[in-house]
Amino acid sequence: MSQQELRGLTFEKLQKWVTEELGEKSYRAQQIYAWLHQKGARDFDAMTDLGKAVRKRLEQIARIDNLKLLKVHEAADGTRKYRFEALKGESIETVFIPRASSDKRHTLCVSSQVGCAMGCTFCLTGRSGLIRNLTAAEILSQVTEARHDVEKDGLRITNIVFMGMGEPLHNIKHVLPALENLCHDRGFGLSTRRITVSTSGLIPQIKKLGKRIPVQLAISLNGPDDALRSEVMPVNERWNLEDLIEACRSYPLGKRRRITFEYVVMADLNDHKEHAEKVAKLLKGMPAKVNLIPFNPYPGSVYKRPTRARVEAFQSVLRNRGIQALIRHTRGDEVLAACGTLSDVDYDPEADQLRAQAREAIQAITD
Ligand code: SF4
Repeated sequence: MSQQELRGLTFEKLQKWVTEELGEKSYRAQQIYAWLHQKGARDFDAMTDLGKAVRKRLEQIARIDNLKLLKVHEAADGTRKYRFEALKGESIETVFIPRASSDKRHTLCVSSQVGCAMGCTFCLTGRSGLIRNLTAAEILSQVTEARHDVEKDGLRITNIVFMGMGEPLHNIKHVLPALENLCHDRGFGLSTRRITVSTSGLIPQIKKLGKRIPVQLAISLNGPDDALRSEVMPVNERWNLEDLIEACRSYPLGKRRRITFEYVVMADLNDHKEHAEKVAKLLKGMPAKVNLIPFNPYPGSVYKRPTRARVEAFQSVLRNRGIQALIRHTRGDEVLAACGTLSDVDYDPEADQLRAQAREAIQAITD
């Protein structure tokens, strides 16, 4: 008989399983759920208030999937890069990014897939193609393990961003239950405003996310018009900018919330003032903020880091048009854990083949 995995179940599903399969009262589900998500239990032995007989039965018919922590690397700025072994032996990464100020707000950047199918040309992760989706348990285990580690030093994870390896909305099946457990009062108890899902622009899934659990949305923009965006992001060939911006305008944002647009600035490609003008026009009237991320070259990358002056000029254009724009200082350079570089794969020079694969994967996405 196959064992039921419990970490990835939503509270409602766990309750159902506890009453129907475990044959216990539903308050047991509350206890198990709290052990898993509030106290970070990794096995049933830790759940001391359940009673021995219940724990024994759980061991027979259920399991808890945990990632194996292989390595932690801490950079001088306090950024910690965790390398985990996923359930099928792959290596994935999670990054803890402390705030420099003393406001005690710290962010964890989690991965949602091993590799990524989207094939963005500037992104190291995209070069490997999609290997597989992470399960909800594997996503949540990243948070649990990182939390155990940082709490030893009196630090707390207050914000979570889905900006590590993978396109989270391409794995919405597992990302949604993970989000529910992160936001549930009896689970991690995080507010939806403290969680950000970053997407390359899968429109049907953006709509689904907005309906189910409207966390903060970040859009990987990277191009000011369809021609340039399609050049660096094959996903734009399927869902163009006009439709993407329309989906953003319809996203159920809470009061005083904004959509973040990530713009990786690449030298002599998308860093001209005219590009900034176009971005400003695109976002006009929308509660938006733009993060400008100077491209972080990796071995073999074809793009170059822009000059500081270019990035600042880009920022000025946006600001002059009333759009909040920040230059995001790359954290954790030392451990190669900056945005879009959470991967160990080597650069594959067969870019055309990668693009064709990405196109195929993107075309296959359904609602
Ligand atoms: S930028 Fe995001 S969506 Fe694009 S290939 Fe990289 S991980 Fe995938």
